[in-house]
Amino acid sequence: MNHAARIGEVGAALETRSQTVLTERQCHFSLRGESGAMLAGRPDLVTIDDDQGVVYDIKTGQPSIADHAQLMIYMYALPHVDRFRDMELNGRIVYRDHDIDIPATAIDNSFRGNLFSLLRRVVSPDPPRQAPSQLECAFCDLTPADCPQRIAFEPEIETTDVPDF
Ligand code: SF4
Repeated sequence: MNHAARIGEVGAALETRSQTVLTERQCHFSLRGESGAMLAGRPDLVTIDDDQGVVYDIKTGQPSIADHAQLMIYMYALPHVDRFRDMELNGRIVYRDHDIDIPATAIDNSFRGNLFSLLRRVVSPDPPRQAPSQLECAFCDLTPADCPQRIAFEPEIETTDVPDF
């Protein structure tokens, strides 16, 4: 409810200065890659002025680095949809007390390569390499029977004395 209210506030403010303001259902996307992976989402707001757009993601919680990735995925995906095709899209994450701008140039070959690699791994029949840690395993639903790698306690790191420094 807080999120919906904030989208309304921010959207109303944007309508006073942008030609077009699109809300969630007007800017959803659903892409299917050759691997079969689906990438779908619904940005909170998109403004369009001439041939430039800004994708907005409104956050009501604590800032997280994942917020950047989420918005950058929107910025990558939307230009594949007819309404936004080939449009230059910048991005803005709107928090309660500050904004973070992400330029269109952030969607570079490095970002694209990492995203495509992740999507291919998600649908690959080969399981990904496990990287067990107490923190990760604590949030994982797999039992020790499902995953022999599961660890409940982080082993202590032994300290070795060296004369080098
Ligand atoms: S239980 Fe297994 S799959 Fe789950 S986080 Fe730990 S290592 Fe990864």
